[in-house]
Amino acid sequence: MALDEITRDELQSVIAHLKEAVYNHQQWHEALVRTIACKLPSNKSDADTAAHTKCLFGQWYYGYETTKLRKHPGFIAVGDEHQRMHHFARQLLVAADDGKPLDVIDFDKFGNALTRLRLEISALEKELEDSLYNHDSLTGAITRYGILPTLREQHELVKRHVQLCYIAMMDLDNFKAVNDLHGHPAGDRVLTESVQYLIKHLRPYDKVFRYGGEEFLLSMPYPADLTPGCDRKVNDLREGIASLNIDIGEGGPIHVSASFGLTDLDPDTPVETTIDRVDKALYAAKAAGRNCVRIWNPSM
Ligand code: GH3
Ligand code: MG
Ligand code: MG
Repeated sequence: MALDEITRDELQSVIAHLKEAVYNHQQWHEALVRTIACKLPSNKSDADTAAHTKCLFGQWYYGYETTKLRKHPGFIAVGDEHQRMHHFARQLLVAADDGKPLDVIDFDKFGNALTRLRLEISALEKELEDSLYNHDSLTGAITRYGILPTLREQHELVKRHVQLCYIAMMDLDNFKAVNDLHGHPAGDRVLTESVQYLIKHLRPYDKVFRYGGEEFLLSMPYPADLTPGCDRKVNDLREGIASLNIDIGEGGPIHVSASFGLTDLDPDTPVETTIDRVDKALYAAKAAGRNCVRIWNPSM
């Protein structure tokens, strides 16, 4: 989950610096147009083949702060378009420096590349902002407002046989006792570590939502023609949480466990009923002694 691994503070900082980089890019563009229109000598670094790494936007893009974004498709697309745009800018500058008239096709290629770059930047900016505002500030899980829209979207794909989608509900075991014994800040730490463990061990298209206090809903889509072994995956997550050594300072480290309910999104059942089912399966896991996974069946 590329963006989910970035903390809220890091996201806030990345968004602020992206806005600054966009402002710098606009200044760069104005200066470029001025250079070409007034036949001024071009800036040496703009005529360089590595110009995209030297402008202020490029310095932000290839700088340390964006390390965690490097594998994010939207971020990669911005880099590709930015490099392309610099390639066409360089062609214009070389021609202008040689005193040649500008080719209208080259000029249009530059204009198109600029438009595409700005589109990619706006998309990335929106995605980063959505990620910031739609995620629970404590755990990094998506807020509960995202649950129904996401499940309904997945449900449509399941109905069209495009994919299957498994839904799990996780609830920490005896969590009240953690708060009572070690204090609320220690409880917060346990919640955060457990959810971050889930996020790190799921795939980029899996989602973790904060359903309620210490209850989390997971959505895990699979291709329709694949036998997913989803119960094994959920069981691995359960074992992983149970083996965490959670550092809470004095009195720690502590261990927790979690119970899971599991079901699939049934094409003929409303998503609200699926949530009821997975809740029943979770209840069965608690009744079976906790720290286990139970798959929903109609007798529950
Ligand atoms: P069970 O195994 O049956 O789930 O027992 P439990 O103690 O986990 O269940 P219960 O529902 O009684 O307790 C949940 C507790 O979670 C109560 C609530 O104070 C605590 N909690 C909910 N949200 C937060 C939070 O954000 N931070 C902390 N520290 N505690 C929270
Ligand atoms: Mg609990
Ligand atoms: Mg609970």
